[in-house]
Amino acid sequence: MAVLWLDEISADDLETVGGKGASLGELTGAGLPVPPGFVVTAGTYRSFIESADIDDELFEVVDVDADDSTALADAAERAQELILETPFPDELREEILASYHEVGEDDEAAFVAVRSSATAEDLPDASFAGQQETFLNVTEANLLDRVRECWASLFTQRAIYYRQEQGFDHSTVNIAVVVQQMVDAEKSGVMFTSHPSTGEPTMIIEAAWGLGEAVVSGAVSPDNYVIPRDEEEVDVTVADKKVMHVKDEDTGETIERAVPEDKRNARVIDQDEIDGLVELGEHVEDHYGDPQDVEWAIADDEIYMLQSRPITTIDDADDADATDATADPVDGVTDGSGTQATGAKTGTGSGSGDVIVDGLGSSPGTVSGPAKIVTKLDDLAKVSEGDVIVTEMTMPDMVPAMKRASGIITDEGGMTSHAAIVSRELGVPAIVGTGNATSILEDGRVVTLDGDKGAVLEGSEVDPDEETEPVEEVRPQSPVKPMTATEVKVNVSIPEAAERAAATGADGVGLLRTEHMILSLNQTPEQYIANNSPDDYTTELVEGIRGVADEFYPRPVRVRTLDAPTDEFRQLEGGEDEPAEHNPMLGYRGIRRSLDRTDVFGHELEAFRRLYELGYDNVEIMFPLVNDAEDVYRAKRELENAGIDPDKRKWGVMIETPASALCVEEMAAAGIDFASFGTNDLTQYTLAVDRNNENVADRFDELHPGVLRLIGDVIETCREHDVDTSICGQAGSKPEMVQFLVNEGISSVSANIDAVRDVQHEVKRVEQKLLLDSVR
Ligand code: PEP
Ligand code: MG
Repeated sequence: MAVLWLDEISADDLETVGGKGASLGELTGAGLPVPPGFVVTAGTYRSFIESADIDDELFEVVDVDADDSTALADAAERAQELILETPFPDELREEILASYHEVGEDDEAAFVAVRSSATAEDLPDASFAGQQETFLNVTEANLLDRVRECWASLFTQRAIYYRQEQGFDHSTVNIAVVVQQMVDAEKSGVMFTSHPSTGEPTMIIEAAWGLGEAVVSGAVSPDNYVIPRDEEEVDVTVADKKVMHVKDEDTGETIERAVPEDKRNARVIDQDEIDGLVELGEHVEDHYGDPQDVEWAIADDEIYMLQSRPITTIDDADDADATDATADPVDGVTDGSGTQATGAKTGTGSGSGDVIVDGLGSSPGTVSGPAKIVTKLDDLAKVSEGDVIVTEMTMPDMVPAMKRASGIITDEGGMTSHAAIVSRELGVPAIVGTGNATSILEDGRVVTLDGDKGAVLEGSEVDPDEETEPVEEVRPQSPVKPMTATEVKVNVSIPEAAERAAATGADGVGLLRTEHMILSLNQTPEQYIANNSPDDYTTELVEGIRGVADEFYPRPVRVRTLDAPTDEFRQLEGGEDEPAEHNPMLGYRGIRRSLDRTDVFGHELEAFRRLYELGYDNVEIMFPLVNDAEDVYRAKRELENAGIDPDKRKWGVMIETPASALCVEEMAAAGIDFASFGTNDLTQYTLAVDRNNENVADRFDELHPGVLRLIGDVIETCREHDVDTSICGQAGSKPEMVQFLVNEGISSVSANIDAVRDVQHEVKRVEQKLLLDSVR
């Protein structure tokens, strides 16, 4: 049998039908109302390539040097061609089409969804197995092509690259294809069978008109129904539902359409439907023995269940308290050895508690450990696990030692300095801008660092008996990701933090800084190119960006082109050739430098071209420190010179100078897709307050009315011109700023890793309030 029906499949059939197929089969077997369908098994893919005798050639052509991008592109093209051009054996064609007719009850135009379902479950990431292809509204006319396209997705450049890099044998990875009836939903939504934050026995249903994608993608704010299981009363919040997704009757495509006026503020589901959904929720929860997060749809008065996943976050809520601070900063694995176990809450130990140094708390958490003064790179060797680094200012070279350290204290810097940004991303508590830590503290002196309050206390606050016990959470975050219409993304500055950033559940990366990738080469870009080659420079960038783009795929990753001031370059090899600048923050940096040195900029943009060629269509390009449309037109021309089609790729600018805020309309006309507020710079340039100068740190106010007025006006103009807006400066992590931005109608907010969850909740809260206000 080339296909297995969903009602013949259980969770044990993973190898044959892949993860998606097994899960749908399990639900069908449990008697849940899953739309009918079948799976073209992994074995069928296998026998297709074997009986056509293309298997040997297939596995041979993809065995290439994955770093040779031309060879990789050729391999992917040939492998996909082999699959796409091999005809279906008659018997197989007939079996798949006969099954399709059975699903559609002999309707030739019946619509089905076709999805790949990879079987390589032992591989750490679905991208290793193949792109996750999904085709909606497929009919008999293109069904077989779609099945072959799912198979061919095993051989995209990206998938080949990763299997090669990880040493996986291409011939061991298989793929199944799920073919399932499309439900032409009149209403749909999601349901939590228990409260997603507290685990209370309360069901929560979100519902909107039309197909479910509108709810899942956040295109519409749904109605909310809260049903305590031991009470009759249902708490209903009816939303203003402006749009719905429906199937276009002519083309079969899914389109967005305005909700008819009489339905916009009407309640979507009635009591009978609530009762039906609650019954379904209880059934699926009983079956799995755990609370579930369910996608459902209603068509012709029938309730369908499209997907069910466990709500794992409820159980994690308590555990999180006990593990976070001991989590390895990069891979998030709990360290039971007590590496950071000296980092406990203040007030439990034997320290005197006297504040000996204070500064800006820039990365939250409280830890204790012996200070290690680092004045030159050689000093880094003395930093062991659990030590507290004390230095003037951190540099890219220090990142490995920063990972080992339990805390970081610097003399200089503000909330957006290297030390502040990197320590937050590593999850290491930090205090910056103390002014004098390197002279007050000495090697070996045990201190306690409170990264929330910005205070360094004498002694260890840890009871010695507790030293190896897991410590309490640095800052408890709410465990559940709320669904928000405004996207919540995350900022990343060091590729090492990508995994931790992706685990936040953010909707993508709102800012990937490339400076740290370049500065860690220890040479200026010009020097690195002279010592090596332009191609090596490009490759460094491709590698750094790819690590993040892959971790988030297919979520978007907005990569900023280089923006380092000359004083940072000066410390590197080749730095003596940097222009001497009286005020580097106002000088030769960002797009100004790039447009002046188009040769180097071209090698940088070549990295983006290669990433697109590798299949990283989730990468977006962002230009820093632009002032006006002329900067934008010139940057756009450089994109074209690098072989990147600005009409096909997403690109945009940072709004970091008052001029850029005032000229955004002209920039919209130049074709930008998005404008992102870099409030660190926008604040410093609007208020004339040096962002790294601790003497004026108290005047650095991102919520200053002047700054907010510029931001509000830009959002309004961008909305008129269909340009997305975002924030990627530090202020995007502050609740007051989030409140302001969501009220103004920003499209997305990008926050620091440790703030993502709180920002998600804040966005949700503000969105709900807006909805309530609109119906009251
Ligand atoms: C900003 O200016 O807000 C920003 C995000 O860029 P950077 O901090 O790297 O200058
Ligand atoms: Mg900036």
